[in-house]
Amino acid sequence: MAVYDYDLFVIGAGSGGIRAARTVAREGFRVGVAEYSKLGGTCVNLGCIPKKLYFYSSHFSEDFEDSHFYGWNFGENQPTFNWKRLQSAKDHEIHRLNQVYEKILRDSGAELICGFASLFDEHTIQIEGASSRRITAEKILLAVGSRPSLPDIPGKELVVTSDYIFQQQELPSRIVIVGGGYIAVEFACIFSGLGCEVSLLYRGDLFLRHFDQSIRLFFLEEIKKKGVKLFFHTQVTRLSKNEDGSICCSFHQEGTEKESSEITTDQVIYAIGRLAKLEQLGLENAGVSCDSRGCIEIDDDFQTSTPSIFALGDAVGRVQLTPVAIAEAVSFVRKHFLGQKSLLDYRYIPTAVFSRPSIASVGFTEEEAREKLGEIQVYSSSFHALKQSLKTIREKTFIKLITEKKTDRVVGAHIIGEDAGEIIQGVSIAMKARATKQVFDETIGIHPSVAEEFTTL
Ligand code: NDP
Repeated sequence: MAVYDYDLFVIGAGSGGIRAARTVAREGFRVGVAEYSKLGGTCVNLGCIPKKLYFYSSHFSEDFEDSHFYGWNFGENQPTFNWKRLQSAKDHEIHRLNQVYEKILRDSGAELICGFASLFDEHTIQIEGASSRRITAEKILLAVGSRPSLPDIPGKELVVTSDYIFQQQELPSRIVIVGGGYIAVEFACIFSGLGCEVSLLYRGDLFLRHFDQSIRLFFLEEIKKKGVKLFFHTQVTRLSKNEDGSICCSFHQEGTEKESSEITTDQVIYAIGRLAKLEQLGLENAGVSCDSRGCIEIDDDFQTSTPSIFALGDAVGRVQLTPVAIAEAVSFVRKHFLGQKSLLDYRYIPTAVFSRPSIASVGFTEEEAREKLGEIQVYSSSFHALKQSLKTIREKTFIKLITEKKTDRVVGAHIIGEDAGEIIQGVSIAMKARATKQVFDETIGIHPSVAEEFTTL
């Protein structure tokens, strides 16, 4: 029987990789993890965490204004914003989290190897770093994550992505954002909140294509109030540098008479999806196949086309969300190291867009529910939350529940409004527990709150 250096070797110390490595190591298995960058992956370093810190920061501009209606007065001293201070505070917190992750990993007994790992064959990993070496493992887990997708247009070298924003030293005054998904919408709201002039260019008719249509339409009205300039049905045709250093963004907009329109801006951010980060990973050396989207192909048990190699998280592209990568890691460990059944269920994954106002959803959209379940009931309400009541420009809240008519089960819940994510997390637990609308109705609300509206629809 072959003797390997490790029982499990994980390539990539992001959310999924770290969870798998430390859980397996704690069970007494010999585990190695390779990472060439900072620990914590996209979520900690270039995604969820720094984005949420920016999101909090972007809220203050409105909070300062709103405080006036609640009796506060700043006198002559208008609040000012310092981007470098935010970046530095954010970097400090990220560094702390990197260290927390390292400690968690080392405490579990897993060995951390700093360097770039690639597959040499189905049981061998080549490490390039301070010292190059080859390592063998009975099982190899690829948890290598994803990177932003880039456009192929003239002037593409002028494009930046979310990766760059988390490191940039200056805050541009004018920003064009291309895309209509999570990152585009979140950054449009963040930068407008920080005082930038933001234009959002999306190729379709309305952003957030996978969300409930009424949520999308409602959000459209709210984001307009934030001053974000919206351009739908657009295709960016070229980017070029002006003499003064600004960028000319040329685009074509369907339905307009003009052949081409232009925006002068200081920065162009593309947020058009993320691709599995598979470059130089040596998949071909070990016979690991990819699917048509360029993601690692796996079966229900995370096994690739090579039996000793497994993959999960963004690299397999099922649902590119941190909690999903973690859930996949837990499921992988249960199946392949603990001999237990997977508890992973891709239904009812709650999700939030940290826009202003925030959006959160779980379960079916109305459109999906009609198509898949037939007869459904839809309950919705829009209102001004109490916190908005003293202001002049007031954000509105919208909530919606969808039930399957024959069972009364709640199959979709959607909200747009402050703390949407916090609220939907609780609703998603009820939905996982197969709660019916009657259960929602019989639940006593917390008054006055936004969340209580889910009990009174
Ligand atoms: P998304 O998949 O959310 O959205 C991509 C957007 O880019 C869509 O609007 C899409 O349009 C558009 N697009 C795709 N290709 C092109 C193209 N060639 N030219 C112009 N537009 C294009 O990706 P993001 O980059 O926003 O985010 C990546 C992933 O990160 C998300 O899928 C999400 O899973 C995760 N994420 C999650 C967050 C959260 O949970 N809050 C926050 C940020 C990211 P169309 O709709 O027409 O396809």
